[in-house]
Parts: sequence; C-alpha cells; structure tokens
Amino acid sequence: MIIKVFTTGPAETNSILIGCSKTRHAAIIDVPLDSTELIVQALKKDSLTPQMILLTHSHWDHLADAAKLKKLLGVPIYVHHEDAGNLERPGSDRLPLFFPIEGVKPDKFLSDGQIIPLGDLQIEVICTPGHTPGGVCFWLKAQKILISGDTLFKGTIGNISFPTARPELMWHSLKKLAKLPPDTRVFPGHGPETTIKAESWIAQARERFEEF
Ligand SMILES: [Zn+2]
Ligand SMILES: [Zn+2]
Repeated sequence: MIIKVFTTGPAETNSILIGCSKTRHAAIIDVPLDSTELIVQALKKDSLTPQMILLTHSHWDHLADAAKLKKLLGVPIYVHHEDAGNLERPGSDRLPLFFPIEGVKPDKFLSDGQIIPLGDLQIEVICTPGHTPGGVCFWLKAQKILISGDTLFKGTIGNISFPTARPELMWHSLKKLAKLPPDTRVFPGHGPETTIKAESWIAQARERFEEF
C-alpha cells in the first residue's frame, strides 16, 4: 500500500493519503488548510485515482480545505454523524475560527465497525469518541496501520477540555485502541508516527490524566 503524510496549516495538522498499489485507488484522510495542492500533486505523481475524503473528526484544523478539495476531486466526503454539524457549519462546535472556513455537506456517515473498501485495502472504522463526540480512527487490519486523528498522539492524547469533548468516553476509546496488535503503526493527526506498543500506557490513560 501507499501511505503519505502532509503536515500543513496553523495547527500543523497531518493530512494522510492512503492508496492501493494495485488498483491505484486512493483516500484522503483529513484536509487541513493548504493541503489541497500537496494532495493533488501527490495523486498525480503516483497515478492515483481519488475515491473519497475521510474525516477523523470535524475540528477546523482537520477540515479547513475540505470544501475546496471535494469540489476539485468530485469525491464523497465521510464523517461520523455526531461530528457532521461542524463540517456543515464550521465554528458551530464553539471553537474559535482564526479565518473563514467554507462548510460542506457530508455525503456519507461513518459508523463503528464499518468496512470501507479501497481497491484491495479494507479500511475499518473504529469509533473513538472523547476528543469530539463523533471522532473515529481508521484501521487497516491487514497492514497493521492505524490513523488515529486527535485521539492518540506519540506520548499523549488529544485535548479533552474543548466544549464538545467527552472525557469519560475518551478513556473507553483509548482502552479499545490498546487492544490492537502492539506492532500496529499509528499515524496521528499531529506529530510523528508511533506504535500501539510504545503507547501501551493508554490502557490506564484515565489514571494518568484525570485529576482527583
Ligand atoms: Zn481535534
Ligand atoms: Zn487537530
């Protein structure tokens, strides 16, 4: 398979391009500000045909270029229904926007356990609410790759003090991720790649982060 990471925008957000090396079908996961050009160039360079835009969640830094890229590529955009409101009306999640962001209507909704075929690849949706109510991770079981959005970063977890965050759900979501194979490569929404083994502490994340 093909996997490429582009880091752009004021929050240094990762956009992740995955592709099937046989069929050349590709998916774009998260579309931060100024990611469009890089994604379009990469698709062209690797002769990939885009099939879909997938969102790990709907914070502004992950969807700023979503409307632009969707128009350009003409592909459906997927998000969990609990995060759909902020995709259609950016800023409705009460996080301040630092520049205007065009909203876009989602085409399809993601649900837990759903398998999205991409050429010979199978992308499984793992619902990981907590950082946002409709946050998801994308798991490629056969390739042992997890796209973790802002649920899990190298050495830490996503912010759980934002207005729509649900800390009690985050602990449960992290426990789910802790059960994945230890040699799973993790590609987060910010920062460098890690592994489930390196982040095995997430099974006890609540004890580490919650103040009593
Ligand atoms: Zn976020
Ligand atoms: Zn983010």
